[in-house]
Amino acid sequence: MLSEFDLIKRYFQRDRAPGANTVLGVGDDCALLAPTPGKLLAVSSDMLVEDRHFFAGADPLLLGHKCLAVNLSDLAAMGAAPLGFTLALALPAADPDWLDGFSRGLFALADAHGCELVGGDTTKGPLNVCITIFGELAPGRALRRDAARAGDDVWISGTLGDARLWLAARRSEVALDAADHAATAQRMHAPTPRVALGRLLADGGLAHAALDISDGLVGDLQHILASSRVGAVLDVDALPTGPALARQPRALRRRFAAAGGDDYELCFTAPADKRAAILAAGEASGTAVTRVGTITAEAGLRLVDGDGAGLDLQLAGWDHFSPG
Ligand code: ADP
Ligand code: MG
Repeated sequence: MLSEFDLIKRYFQRDRAPGANTVLGVGDDCALLAPTPGKLLAVSSDMLVEDRHFFAGADPLLLGHKCLAVNLSDLAAMGAAPLGFTLALALPAADPDWLDGFSRGLFALADAHGCELVGGDTTKGPLNVCITIFGELAPGRALRRDAARAGDDVWISGTLGDARLWLAARRSEVALDAADHAATAQRMHAPTPRVALGRLLADGGLAHAALDISDGLVGDLQHILASSRVGAVLDVDALPTGPALARQPRALRRRFAAAGGDDYELCFTAPADKRAAILAAGEASGTAVTRVGTITAEAGLRLVDGDGAGLDLQLAGWDHFSPG
């Protein structure tokens, strides 16, 4: 049986020199980080709870990826560069196979982003994974939710709705062939945090406001609109979708793209004179970027179809504490 300290040492303490921004990593009372002088520290936490954010029996390798991916996605949405993260883990048992898969998924993504695990806490309990991530950015460059301005374009990275489509297939609401099932499962379980794009948007002063879409675009965009005291017109038929969702009927396509959830794409606003530079940032970061609407001085979010006619889709964002 693994002791708590054997477990930490075996799976989470890596035998290697700390990175440039880490003075001291796992093993002491605190980690010591050294942000680049003059930069602001960007800090965010995201918790994943079994049976709420993922199903019991979820593949530990994918879970390791996803719990860090959703945190990196928050840094991306602020335009910050990753520095490191802590991991608070409640585990029902010290299962070596589970820990091996989980830590491999976690470290593969961490290493891809040069983001080190610097500490954490480990306890017995119902499976629960909470990561706090640290990043840095130059003062005045953060992509804040209160920074959208009337006349801005609204942009989306990547594609929307695939994770929701996978969930619909799991609930037998739609039938997918094997290839579409695999493609949408990948989008649900292994989202790609858009860190490189977010950094280019922030560092280049290209975007005003941004957030990452976790609860569905329509609900999440409202956060930008409320903080910035503006409104928006959103062309639902311009929302980028992957091939699996593109094969679905129009009503479902619109609903899942506009309000699906678990997308972990960026929604950002930017002045029209930055269009060419934003397309170049998309190219440079290997991330598709699509213009889907406009910020308006008038409050409220208006959904329109490809011809500009109003749509009433009766969509709501995900809220953990709302009834139903
Ligand atoms: P403390 O008694 O101060 O809470 P712990 O005994 O919980 O410290 O942890 C010992 C060391 O291991 C600390 O440096 C802590 O940050 C680290 N640690 C504990 N759990 C994890 C984990 N899941 N991942 C990474 N580091 C961890
Ligand atoms: Mg502790």
